Amino acid sequence: MSIIKGSEKIVNPLQESALKKKGLCDYVINIASGCLHGCTFCYVPSTPAIRTKQKELQEKGISNPQMDWGKYLLVRENIPEQLEEKLSRKKKWRETPEGKGVVLLCSGTDPYQNYQTAKITRKTVEILSKNQKRVRILTRSPLWINDLDILNQPNITVGMSLPFLNDELSLKIEPQAPPPSKRYEALQKGHQAGCRLYVAMAPTPPIMTLDDFKINLEQIMKIDPEVIFWEPINARGTNGKRMIVAGLEFASSIMTKKSWAENFIKQWEHVEKAAKSVGCLDKLHIWPDPELKGYVEEEKLNRWLYMPTVETWQKETVSQTRKKSTKTRNKKLAIVR
Ligand code: SF4
Repeated sequence: MSIIKGSEKIVNPLQESALKKKGLCDYVINIASGCLHGCTFCYVPSTPAIRTKQKELQEKGISNPQMDWGKYLLVRENIPEQLEEKLSRKKKWRETPEGKGVVLLCSGTDPYQNYQTAKITRKTVEILSKNQKRVRILTRSPLWINDLDILNQPNITVGMSLPFLNDELSLKIEPQAPPPSKRYEALQKGHQAGCRLYVAMAPTPPIMTLDDFKINLEQIMKIDPEVIFWEPINARGTNGKRMIVAGLEFASSIMTKKSWAENFIKQWEHVEKAAKSVGCLDKLHIWPDPELKGYVEEEKLNRWLYMPTVETWQKETVSQTRKKSTKTRNKKLAIVR
């Protein structure tokens, strides 16, 4: 199938998100359906975001929305206008202890995968900033560096997925995404500019060794991220099949629940040991999987689920300050009356 590009309209640009269980956000904005990076391990095509749109996508010429992941991109051009409208009407803002009221761009696509999505992302971030919302960017593309003028501020954190620093391995696993060396360069530039940063060292393949983790973390610590998220590749839905089609032999070693869980536990031990030896255990944030129940002590599992990150945000957003001062003013008026 050749690449299919187009646009789509959605009703709600700002969705409440369950990703607080990973300490990521309370809301998510996805500026497209599909992702041209087409990473072989990507779970998105197996999620309801794509599964519930099977027919709609097939009508656009995408015969198999799961297996053809990476070959289609339907951009939601109206998101900025819709968001502006939505925020002007929105009275309550969800701010859980784990999600911290943060808006994530994006969970189901890459916000900076090309110039077209970068333009929509920029407009969207500008609107969120104007409304004093906390923003988390997550990308594999260095294009965000062009937006440093709006991203470098206290209410925005930019994160890059950097599971490993090996361009050759990346060519096999995430062949259409910019190589890790370019991502790392972007992080270095962001660090030099004083940008708030984090890294998603995820998802890591089962071939990663303790030394690989140490080398990664040593490099990552040079850009001083506030938090380093970690999870291994989880073979789930169709991603196992896609990895096998891509010739990734390691995929078959994590295809059963038992082998997946054993690999998760082994890597978890490695990553914690490596973080300890590099001196960044305090920044490491594990993304456990509830499916590990029965394989990992429940207490250990529950400790990480819904754990807030160590990131700190400005105590109050301007909108909260405004609300407070209105309350105080009303109280004073009540006293005077
Ligand atoms: S960049 Fe993210 S959303 Fe896009 S294919 Fe890769 S993992 Fe999936």
